[in-house]
Amino acid sequence: MGEISPKERAFKVLKGEKVDRIPVTSLAGCGGTVNVEMQEATGIYWPDAHKDPEKMAKLAIASYELSGLECVRVPFDFVEEPEALGCKIKFGEKVDSVPAVAEHVFNTPEELKMPDNLLELGRIPVVLKSIEILKEKVGDFLPISSLALGPFTLAAMLAGEAKFLIWVLKKPDYVRAFVDFATSIVIEYAKAQYKAGSHIVQIGDPTASPDLISPDQFRNFAMPALIEVANNLDGLKLLHICGKAEAIVPDMADCGYHGISVEESVNIAKIKPLVGNVKILGNINSKRTLLFGKPEDVEAEVKVAINAGADMVEPGCGFAPRTPTRNIKAMVEATKKFGVKT
Ligand SMILES: [Zn+2]
Repeated sequence: MGEISPKERAFKVLKGEKVDRIPVTSLAGCGGTVNVEMQEATGIYWPDAHKDPEKMAKLAIASYELSGLECVRVPFDFVEEPEALGCKIKFGEKVDSVPAVAEHVFNTPEELKMPDNLLELGRIPVVLKSIEILKEKVGDFLPISSLALGPFTLAAMLAGEAKFLIWVLKKPDYVRAFVDFATSIVIEYAKAQYKAGSHIVQIGDPTASPDLISPDQFRNFAMPALIEVANNLDGLKLLHICGKAEAIVPDMADCGYHGISVEESVNIAKIKPLVGNVKILGNINSKRTLLFGKPEDVEAEVKVAINAGADMVEPGCGFAPRTPTRNIKAMVEATKKFGVKT
């Protein structure tokens, strides 16, 4: 019997079925799957690739071809939704610049209006088209994941994070109104991603991390929206929250996603008994080991993650653009070596 495809393996794990070995992917996380070396190898560079569906798809496929990582993922940044709603974006001119919101344009709930053509705005059509291309080119073999923001994070981007975090304390009604609005946007965009051909939608909610709000505030403001998003999405779905998320892991597991993606600060062995059937993705150190470490350091961390009970080996928060390909390959090889199920 031949080896099963990476797509089948990832699907089986997320659905709780038995597999030959642990998958090695980067389906979730704030960073992506594409690094600077991959841009140089293909001659396709950021920021162009953020704005062109063909280039985006080609780079996503190159990340598999050049590193062996068992997935493809788009987009490579985190700001499609705020951009579509009118926030100004700074793309940066360098190949390692990550686009960010430069100007937040919403100050009161009255200013929030649901557009009737969301899927035509900003770069949303670019991402959806790129998913369609991926589906056609590699969709039978590799799992395709795509990103939609968590409602709390999107709401904070619309208002500006500093102001929004003050509202959490002083204007809870504003927070609720912004998060409600963001929830509708996220659901519509995520549904369109599945329709375009994405197999797995990642909801990335970094602003809901205990690094920024308390676990009580998470339960109060962010969690109900995450549950509503999960309830409205029929396909495979993942929830990523980075930072020191251990205190909210049981809540994350209760939100209704197939898997949760956590960083290295979260002890997988400790949370394993707390998450029920929800799968744990992680948690190789994105900012230190993968970015600056040696391949043997990566291998050692992969071994630890697998022994701790990771269901899928992934970077804690995606790959930073300057991550060397040799370290991504080391993550892949180490998972193939230590992740075999007996
Ligand atoms: Zn993250």
